[in-house]
Amino acid sequence: MEYIHLAIRGEESIMVTSLQQPVLIRNTKLGPTVFQDEEGHQVTWQGRDDPMGEDIQPIPQAFLQSSEFLRSLSRGTFVLESASDDVTEALAGHLDSPALRKQAANWASKQASEKVSAIEVVDHKANADIVTVKCLGPATRGTGTCDVEIPVKEKGKNEHVPLCGQHEALAPQYVQTEDNNWVRVALAPRQQHQSIVS
Ligand SMILES: [Zn+2]
Repeated sequence: MEYIHLAIRGEESIMVTSLQQPVLIRNTKLGPTVFQDEEGHQVTWQGRDDPMGEDIQPIPQAFLQSSEFLRSLSRGTFVLESASDDVTEALAGHLDSPALRKQAANWASKQASEKVSAIEVVDHKANADIVTVKCLGPATRGTGTCDVEIPVKEKGKNEHVPLCGQHEALAPQYVQTEDNNWVRVALAPRQQHQSIVS
């Protein structure tokens, strides 16, 4: 008889007996989804309602010990399709824990508020007013940014990195973060040289 430990938040763990029956998990996301646990076990699901049925996959038992995987179950990203009674029962008990229910609710409301802010951004872009942004190029003297003010249309102001005429050639070095900030990822050799000298 083999045993499975279910990872539980905190120090608790549930021990259940495992039968030969595989644990089948269904992916509810629209697109292909990969889960990899801390030990490198990896399973790929096709998106929901995959015509070949590849949205349902057997998982390694190790996943049941991964709190990250159990969190995905509690969020509903993955759902239990079938498993031995022991595993089903242990999972149901686990997923019904108040801590996980709260976590799942928090996650759901965060997802909802992110959708709202995405709509706000879209509305924002309808605005054609001119606003002023500051050049993110390197300061001509000392450290910091250039800060030369550049008038841009409010609409689409986040689509290009703000750079003045002197710095616009540096644009390819900037990448946008998910929260619409810009980071400089590469320094031109000349710039590196300058910063070493100064
Ligand atoms: Zn500049």
